[in-house]
Amino acid sequence: MRLTLIENALDSLREALDKVALAQIDARAWKFAVLNVVHTVELVIKYRLQKEHPLLVWADVDRPKQTVSLQVALERLQRVGVTIDAADQDAIRAAIHWRNNITHYETEFLLAEVQANFLVIFEFLDTFYKREFGEDLTSHLDGNHASIAAGLIADFRRVDVTFQGRPMRRSWPAQLLAAQRVLELMLDGVLYKRIRHGDELESGDEAIPRYPTPDTCHDCEARVGDLHGPGCDSERCPRCSGQLLSCACNFEAPANW
Ligand SMILES: [Zn+2]
Ligand SMILES: [Zn+2]
Repeated sequence: MRLTLIENALDSLREALDKVALAQIDARAWKFAVLNVVHTVELVIKYRLQKEHPLLVWADVDRPKQTVSLQVALERLQRVGVTIDAADQDAIRAAIHWRNNITHYETEFLLAEVQANFLVIFEFLDTFYKREFGEDLTSHLDGNHASIAAGLIADFRRVDVTFQGRPMRRSWPAQLLAAQRVLELMLDGVLYKRIRHGDELESGDEAIPRYPTPDTCHDCEARVGDLHGPGCDSERCPRCSGQLLSCACNFEAPANW
């Protein structure tokens, strides 16, 4: 099983890198690159869990039939003391969301954002593997794939930028700006207007704390009056007033998300 996980992870990574190469000719290939790199992350995280204890990869340890979801795997990993920084968690979370909604992006896929997110995830994968297993993941690749990977690592080292006076990851401003165009969300088949940063109190839900609104959102850096960025943990669900990220409403990802 151990061998299987890492071998499958490498297969997914090779597939992702093939799509990256293809994306130079056809930008739509980025979305398949994302699908594959998320799958790679999933397998590498499970591989790390397995190193901690073989049973940890199973959803139900008493009935080892189905392995855990990526989300649960991430949570378990942190519970056993392996840290994953917030920015990386955001990127992975956004990618899980994209993966689950990939068919919605056939026509209006924001490739620049997907590309930026791919790079954050790829970089996470690279550093995580090195840190947790003491070797380069890319050392298992043939020359062609290794050189595509090296190109990614060199070109897209994470660099913070300043946007609207706030420091943030380079990929984030584009995502935050794109989020401003998504005014409504389809929740359980009904369109709702999204709740802006600072408007949370107007949702009419007693349960929402009435603390003063910070000038910028702690998670996504949206300013008061702006819409939150994709995957922000502060955004309220306009249907149930819960946390949009975790509420039970069925969320259909709009284009540009
Ligand atoms: Zn936010
Ligand atoms: Zn909801």
